[in-house]
Amino acid sequence: MPELLVIGGGAMGSAVAAKLASQQGWRVRVLERDPSYARASSALSAASIRQQFTSPLNIALSQYGLQFLRSLGDEAQFVEGGYLYLAREPQQLRELHEVQARCGADIGLLEPAQLQTRWPWLATQDLALGAFGRSGEGWFDGWGLLMALRRQALAAGAEYLSGEALELLRDGKGCIGGVRTEAGVLQADLYLLACGAWSGKLAATAGLQVPVEARRRSVYVFRSPEWAPGSPLVIDPSGLWFRPEGEGQFICGGEPLDDSPDLPLDPEANLFEERLWPALAERVPGFESLRLQRAWAGYYEMNTFDHNGLVGPMAACPNLFLACGFSGHGLQHAPGVGRGLAELIAAGHYQSLDLSPLSPDRIAANQPYRELNVI
Ligand SMILES: Cc1cc2nc3c(=O)[nH]c(=O)nc-3n(C[C@H](O)[C@H](O)[C@H](O)COP(=O)(O)OP(=O)(O)OC[C@H]3O[C@@H](n4cnc5c(N)ncnc54)[C@H](O)[C@@H]3O)c2cc1C
Repeated sequence: MPELLVIGGGAMGSAVAAKLASQQGWRVRVLERDPSYARASSALSAASIRQQFTSPLNIALSQYGLQFLRSLGDEAQFVEGGYLYLAREPQQLRELHEVQARCGADIGLLEPAQLQTRWPWLATQDLALGAFGRSGEGWFDGWGLLMALRRQALAAGAEYLSGEALELLRDGKGCIGGVRTEAGVLQADLYLLACGAWSGKLAATAGLQVPVEARRRSVYVFRSPEWAPGSPLVIDPSGLWFRPEGEGQFICGGEPLDDSPDLPLDPEANLFEERLWPALAERVPGFESLRLQRAWAGYYEMNTFDHNGLVGPMAACPNLFLACGFSGHGLQHAPGVGRGLAELIAAGHYQSLDLSPLSPDRIAANQPYRELNVI
């Protein structure tokens, strides 16, 4: 029986394992170094889903992600609160809106007066336009999604192994011949690199260049005596984002002050005070008196080539498949990538959604498939 060894059992690795293990005739093992997922991005994300992307494929992946979340029912705790993109220049939002509408996304454009009527707590004097996801966008329980994917993989017969991949070993033909771990070498027919932010480093042990770096992103939790009722997930032109989180709380984040790779996973000092709080108070004057509760940090698995996922086999090493580089939007896309890669591996081609624009071959061909809406 052919075997796939998945390296990394986060949302991506588990989604592929769940779909492939449910196909007849495939053995799937998942190598995960930390079953508590303490540093995994899937456990540290903002767990939100949107259709407001610039690439049609990302919109389609989100639409499948949405379907998947809905299929989980209460377990996903999906809140369909919408994303609200705010812009000082209307042109780009209008152009993107056309793309998104063609892809079936339910996004409405709102003039400043309409924004003000709908969300009276929002300062709109500098704005030209907003784009609001009327349905199909919101936030969910990220841990719940990770556990659901892992449970589905186990139920389908995938086996989880505890251990770290220390090195990818090449055979004489340029393929991967095994994975070195402390317990010995693990071998399979195919390998899937799904190590999130650590994927580039592990690929380098086999002399392969995968342009994925660990970029820290911090999330801050706050309470405010002034509430912003009915708040969607707001994307401010300053780069700030915020959304409600449970009873009486908000979370927020934004572009880091220091975006060097591999920074320690402590929330960035000074980002909140220097950049985010002033931007929050400017957009929602009531947030001036907010109180910071706590903060955490996780890694974006940043694809420095074009900020989009790398999905599929590597021409330079044909039995190594990639599912990494999603640059901060991978949790919502994990179900769709899992379904697609399982089809590609089992049937030899994509069946439900063509993911070939995300092929890693675009790097050698120097043909970026850019996603501009990276938050
Ligand atoms: C602050 C923040 C906010 C985010 N917000 C969103 C959002 O709102 N919506 C969204 O869709 N996405 C969001 N993301 C991105 C999302 O979290 C990731 O794209 C997604 O979780 C990637 O899943 P993964 O399985 O590839 O990576 P991970 O969840 O990191 O899983 C990789 C796994 O590989 C394991 N591993 C690594 N190296 C090895 C090795 N050598 N051997 C064995 N195991 C190994 C790790 O332990 C880990 O469990 C956010 C990320 C962050 C950090």
